[in-house]
Amino acid sequence: MERITTRGMRMPKLGLGTWQMEGSECRVAVERALALGYRHLDTAEMYGNEAEVGAGLAGSPVPRADVHLTTKVWWEHLQPDVLRDALRRSLDRLATPYVDLYLIHWPPPPHVDHLSAALETMTALKEEGLTRAIGVSNFPVALMRAAVEEVGAPIACNQVEYHVLLDQSAVLDYARAHDIAVIAYSPLAQGRLADYPDLAAIARKHGATPSQIALAWLLEQPGIAAIPKAQRAESQRANLGALSIRLDDEDRATIALLPKDERFVSPSFAPRWDAPRRAA
Ligand code: NAP
Repeated sequence: MERITTRGMRMPKLGLGTWQMEGSECRVAVERALALGYRHLDTAEMYGNEAEVGAGLAGSPVPRADVHLTTKVWWEHLQPDVLRDALRRSLDRLATPYVDLYLIHWPPPPHVDHLSAALETMTALKEEGLTRAIGVSNFPVALMRAAVEEVGAPIACNQVEYHVLLDQSAVLDYARAHDIAVIAYSPLAQGRLADYPDLAAIARKHGATPSQIALAWLLEQPGIAAIPKAQRAESQRANLGALSIRLDDEDRATIALLPKDERFVSPSFAPRWDAPRRAA
């Protein structure tokens, strides 16, 4: 599978999201995904499933070194000592001496002044080998700019909501100009894609499903990885199948005309996003 290489990271473009996977079902889903060929796993301390993800990894014959493993620190844990402790605990639960990518899960709200200290601590954790690369999640361009240009942190990635129904061109433009990968979360719009007949028509043309088309559209973009959550074996297989779908210009033009302002993950502590650019 194609990988994205930047700042200490070699990340397969398709990963397995694990939010809302729990207990033994999570462990089984991770083991099965690795057996099917996945080599990129996404978790977070906030998901409460790091131990199960770690158990799935430990139970698989795939060597740890062959797997890209991401976890994230919650935004309330960004004070330097708390952050260090959070990574130590994540590593214990994941039963691994290092992660491949450690992300700040959400930026702290503007009145909380931990961001530069947190990024400096993240950089130190990378230098100490506890994570191969560091990054951010849910950072709009202004915050990416602060992290990269003011703090000088070696940011390898920004993980953001991105799918056929949401424009992220401002984030993508900044990321590409600074050699930063973008990981698309909720890449299947959390299961809402069946409502779009134009997507269904593209899917019929390729003998595929709307989810596979939406994933193929993300995966063909340079510098973009996607991490659909797929607990069922059929979903895991279908998403691997999206890697071999080749869209044409007509498909892309149809997808460009879908609504581009559908944001599904918007908790009370989310940052302000730039106004979306509408499709032409
Ligand atoms: P998603 O991946 O867009 O959608 C997941 C849903 O789609 C599940 O119900 C899944 O079903 C279903 N599905 C998976 N593959 C399918 C297929 N081929 N055909 C039809 N349905 C399919 O939504 P998400 O869970 O919000 O996002 C994915 C991952 O991104 C999360 O698990 C998490 O790791 C990450 N994430 C990060 C953040 C952040 O703040 N950084 C926020 C949200 C999510 P089954 O599981 O039953 O197979």
